[in-house]
Amino acid sequence: MLLNLLEYHWAEHIDDALLLLSRTDTKTVPLAGGTYLLGLRDESIQAVVDLRDLGLAYISEDEQGIHIGAMTTLQSMVDAPLLKELATGLLSRAALASSFSRLIRNSATLGGTLGAGVPSQADLLTALTVMEAEVVLRSGSKTQVDLAGGTADRPGLALSGVTYKGKQERRVPYSSLGIDRRFSELIIEVIVPRPSPACGASFMRIGRTPTDIALLNAAALVEVKDGLYQRVRVALGGVNMEPVRLQAVEKQLEGQAVGAQFIAPARNVGAGTHKGHPYMGAQLQSALQAGMADFRPPSDFRASSGYRRVSGMNLAYRVLEEAINVSRWRGMVSSEGGGRAEM
Ligand SMILES: Cc1cc2nc3c(=O)[nH]c(=O)nc-3n(C[C@H](O)[C@H](O)[C@H](O)COP(=O)(O)OP(=O)(O)OC[C@H]3O[C@@H](n4cnc5c(N)ncnc54)[C@H](O)[C@@H]3O)c2cc1C
Repeated sequence: MLLNLLEYHWAEHIDDALLLLSRTDTKTVPLAGGTYLLGLRDESIQAVVDLRDLGLAYISEDEQGIHIGAMTTLQSMVDAPLLKELATGLLSRAALASSFSRLIRNSATLGGTLGAGVPSQADLLTALTVMEAEVVLRSGSKTQVDLAGGTADRPGLALSGVTYKGKQERRVPYSSLGIDRRFSELIIEVIVPRPSPACGASFMRIGRTPTDIALLNAAALVEVKDGLYQRVRVALGGVNMEPVRLQAVEKQLEGQAVGAQFIAPARNVGAGTHKGHPYMGAQLQSALQAGMADFRPPSDFRASSGYRRVSGMNLAYRVLEEAINVSRWRGMVSSEGGGRAEM
């Protein structure tokens, strides 16, 4: 409950909302679906700005990628044909898993999920991490900008000490949103670059029951071309845990041949017996063991750090394996009729 709420604003234009959010005398926050905000015990919030009439509920595509407006509900993301076919439906499936209650998904929005961050417990955050999504932020505050070096459009135009007033828009990688976003900035949309059609993706989760929040979740996006790992993205997340990209694992695999034998086979049972490439299993195990040596997930009452470390390695293995197989299968299908098959 927001016990000290004094003002409710139903904004009709983004500029009005930005003006209200930039006030320093009244603590004002955006209100999206309200499923998280209205349950908060925050006595400092004095005003909310309802965003529902700002035209921010859309999913579209242009040359930059897929644009998903901040007020798009999780259910619209589940249902959108564009997201169902993007990266084997990774975002659509993760939006569905984020809340198994349709009632919540009909209200909860993408912007609200990002605004809440880790406390939203949303599986979507891990999927956005591997998709390398960017978030468009806008603020209306008066900002001091040093234009001594000119602007991006006019590099030669030196305007030292000029005070820039008016709205500002910038794009930040989703992975740094938590540290980059300023309090008065409004999330406008998320831009997801369209991955190559040859990419395979996978999303998996572990929960106490199939509909419970995920103790651990994993997402992978892999492109295999001419038998080489062109692009590997893998991330782990879960309850009360910031999604973590396993960049050391990605680096170990990128540029390597699928199933390259020079990586020492791991000791685990099952390694080296993958039916497509005899050494792919061993290669993945080896990359994960080396690349996840520094993986230190947090503990909480639901899942200890040790549990997450062990399960995380297995889950990462499984999403990578599935994403690799999908990518190789896609390569095989697209090369039918004269090209060379991947498998
Ligand atoms: C009964 C119940 C069960 C829930 N179960 C789950 C669950 O299983 N999984 C899950 O992921 N979540 C769950 N939630 C939490 C909630 O549904 C999510 O966090 C949700 O995604 C929040 O979205 P919203 O649109 O309702 O955001 P709101 O509650 O309106 O806002 C959330 C936060 O984001 C800020 N915000 C909203 N929009 C913007 C914007 N455009 N720019 C900047 N800041 C913004 C708000 O100021 C607020 O701080 C549950 C909530 C309830 C009430």
